[in-house]
Amino acid sequence: MLELRNIHTYYGSIRAVRGISIIVNNGEMVCLIGANGAGKSTTLMTTSGIYTPVEGSIYFEDRDITQTSAEDRVALGISQVPEGRLIFADMTVLENLELGAYTRKDKQGIREDIDKMFQFFPVLRERQKQRGGSLSGGEQQMLAIGRALMCRPRLLLLDEPSLGLAPLIVKQIFEIIQQINADGTTILLVEQNAQIALQVTNRGYVMETGEITIEGASADLLADESVRQAYLGE
Ligand code: ATP
Repeated sequence: MLELRNIHTYYGSIRAVRGISIIVNNGEMVCLIGANGAGKSTTLMTTSGIYTPVEGSIYFEDRDITQTSAEDRVALGISQVPEGRLIFADMTVLENLELGAYTRKDKQGIREDIDKMFQFFPVLRERQKQRGGSLSGGEQQMLAIGRALMCRPRLLLLDEPSLGLAPLIVKQIFEIIQQINADGTTILLVEQNAQIALQVTNRGYVMETGEITIEGASADLLADESVRQAYLGE
């Protein structure tokens, strides 16, 4: 479904991503793990079109989207949940969800999907008239995921959904993410919490200073001695 081929992304002279290749097959959940500053977020933002690579190609459903704008990528079916959620603090929960559907014109369908999000995240229904900024961290993450799902993506890009959340809330969020994947949305997940990321995904890529150093089935990575030592605190 998604293929990054030899992607290089720079910030001026900083070479954040140095020739990485990643494949995500239809229906899979794949993770990208690695230390702070390894280049994971840059990879995700290059996939969503916020950054343009200086070299390499990106294919989505066999179409070359390397030069496609971020907005057009949303219309093609790629949606990102950014690091730090970035919900609109002064808008209500409902308005945040409606914003997620900005590429759509089918009012009836949008209403149905909002209802679906409320079934998925009952706490958002209860708080639909509250300001986004008044929600807890976990609720804001749910709202950010719900907003990203409102454009009916086929590929969901998730950047550090566990960031700043208590372990119990992280567990809840990941149960929801697994449900979204089981319902048919393909997922590329960036996480610093390698333990949980490898537990819930099919395959994983390990990134170090802008390059992929290890890749494989997540179960194999969980058992890999070097991964255990470097990323699982052993
Ligand atoms: P984190 O988990 O901290 O977000 P990461 O693995 O996602 O880490 P990136 O955020 O992609 O890493 O950063 C990769 C490199 O690019 C780092 O050296 C970082 O300092 C640098 N970088 C990231 N964003 C910018 C920017 N807007 N301008 C300049 N350098 C940047």
